[in-house]
Amino acid sequence: MKFISTRGEAPALAFEGALLAALASDGGLLMPEAWPQLEASEIAALAGLDYADAAYRIMSPYLAGDPCLDDLEAVLEEAYDGFHHPAIAPLRQVGPNAFVLELFHGPTLAFKDLAMQVVSRFMSRVLLRKGARATVVGATSGDTGAAAIEAFRGLDSIDVFILHPKGRITDVQRRQMTTATEANVHNIAVEGTFDDCQAIVKGLFADRALRERLSLTGVNSINFARILAQIAYYFTAAVSLGAPYRPVAFAVPTGNFGDIFAGYAARAMGLPVSRLVIATNLNDSLPRALSSGSYEPQGVIATSSPSMDIQLASNFERLLFELAGRDAARVRALMEELRTTGAFGLTQGELGQLSDLFGAYSVGENETEMTIRGVFEETGVLIDPHTAVGIAASHQEASLGATPMVVLSTAHPAKFAGVVERATGRVPEQPERLRLRLGQHERCAVLPNDQAAVADFIVSNGRAASAGAGA
Ligand SMILES: *Cc1c(COP(=O)(O)O)cnc(C)c1O
Repeated sequence: MKFISTRGEAPALAFEGALLAALASDGGLLMPEAWPQLEASEIAALAGLDYADAAYRIMSPYLAGDPCLDDLEAVLEEAYDGFHHPAIAPLRQVGPNAFVLELFHGPTLAFKDLAMQVVSRFMSRVLLRKGARATVVGATSGDTGAAAIEAFRGLDSIDVFILHPKGRITDVQRRQMTTATEANVHNIAVEGTFDDCQAIVKGLFADRALRERLSLTGVNSINFARILAQIAYYFTAAVSLGAPYRPVAFAVPTGNFGDIFAGYAARAMGLPVSRLVIATNLNDSLPRALSSGSYEPQGVIATSSPSMDIQLASNFERLLFELAGRDAARVRALMEELRTTGAFGLTQGELGQLSDLFGAYSVGENETEMTIRGVFEETGVLIDPHTAVGIAASHQEASLGATPMVVLSTAHPAKFAGVVERATGRVPEQPERLRLRLGQHERCAVLPNDQAAVADFIVSNGRAASAGAGA
């Protein structure tokens, strides 16, 4: 299996290359050259398997012919060993034909753990094989950074630099990152928004000299390995609800479009997914694109679901590539238009395909809180604000008939305890694993919204750089 760029001007890479490169060298995103297909009988055979075994069957076609295939079984075993639920990604019924898929049983209480625990292990094994070092640089709206730091802390071959928007993440999210004491972990609070942080990271990757000198690699959802690990739970959830014989719909709390794109990938592999609902908070560039045909990201609005306070959804480029019939020239033109004018328009054909499969709804702050309260009153279950956005959006999706709707529950309520308490009067219980992981002393550099300042910081604090500079 090879991975190709959405912009068509980068060499194709095997899985290992795609894992380490994160971003294609032409600035595009890497995509499998074709979607592996699972027969109905193969999907049916996933029923009853352990999560790691099911994930192996779904992920292995992408690793065919790559040295990482030999690591896959052990990587998955170890990655999910630290989860606090034997099902790893259990389903909970919250209404007639309505389910939440709990993706928060990992060490940092958000769904990012499901992929990050896999990606860090792959990277560490590859670097060990090559006797090389690497520098992970990532931007976070809160949860990616915590999951990355948890997954990479203490690793010998990798330094981690995580940028977060200063003052725009919750206390728990910040402390999960800044109280890590390991020397390979570096936190940077940028005086700007998540989109600013993401732009800096993209800029650092675009600097070829710096990228090579530091062996930069990324663990944001622009890394296809993240998406790949996330495809697995769409299959396990759908199979529990009757796939391949019965279609299933999903509603996904969306920011960077990585998680929901994994749902698209599952469908492209043969899973009967009848509908994918893009659930956003007030940062509504995707719902607006679906209703107007014009994608026009605006300024970021801070909400109670900060991990989705994103306007520029990087992974949307992957879907554009698909909507355009994999015409990389078309994607290049759209991305250039976005860069120069701040917007682009879809053709009727592209928009038609998009709305055939996807619904998209923006959920306001009040509605988010009302949903947390409503679910608690009806079922006694506490949900976090991101999950609430997903549930509220799923309610807007009419006429699904007998098709089950699965809402991805992307974070544990204790991670966003303030909002949950305001909505329900209940303080969600803090799982012990969170309390034990939060240290006392915080370590974090505050830097201006400036790529050069961040680059300097990484060069002077990273180990890969000093080794490279001396050579
Ligand atoms: C990252 C995150 C999201 C958004 O996921 P994307 O893949 O960026 O669309 C939603 N909810 C939570 C809790 C998250 O951490």
